[in-house]
Amino acid sequence: MDALGQFNEHLSLSLAVYEKDFESLTAITDDILSKVANVIGGEDAVKVVMALKELKEATDDQLLPKTEMKLNDIRKMLFKLYNHSIVQCDVSRDKDTGWFIFRWRVQLDQVEWFINDQKRRILKILKTRLAYEENHEFYYCNTPGCSRITFEDAMELVFRCPICGKALQHYDNNAMVKVLADKIEQLEGGKG
Ligand SMILES: [Zn+2]
Repeated sequence: MDALGQFNEHLSLSLAVYEKDFESLTAITDDILSKVANVIGGEDAVKVVMALKELKEATDDQLLPKTEMKLNDIRKMLFKLYNHSIVQCDVSRDKDTGWFIFRWRVQLDQVEWFINDQKRRILKILKTRLAYEENHEFYYCNTPGCSRITFEDAMELVFRCPICGKALQHYDNNAMVKVLADKIEQLEGGKG
């Protein structure tokens, strides 16, 4: 995958937590919570977070009937969510067995922080990309699957595509510059 492909993939993942409904963020709805969980750990994370939110506080085995997941998978997901601060836990010791008991709960205030953090990351990516687009001239062979090449590299290649061998032609990136600039303006104009 070329740099542009990687960029697009990363961006679509990041944008999944920052769609239109987050622009007027006033409260963490179930919909937003499940989207955030989905970005962190997919369907399983959504199941765990929503079950946990409903129970308010729970041990991992109490989540078994609600999630219908394996206990090991629930535990893995809880620690993954914990690493993103979306869930918090209290640890105590069982008086009889001496085993540790983890009691988990969702941290809604951290969900908002997570969203704003994602937004900052997206803005940084977009701005870096915009600067790259504005500061380079590109050449392209117009063959689907081949990559755009900067002017400097195109010179070294004597304006021949290194993949398909066709002549490289000047590539107008104004459309992409505009898309990036509009997206930045949209995100910076929104709340948060
Ligand atoms: Zn080519």
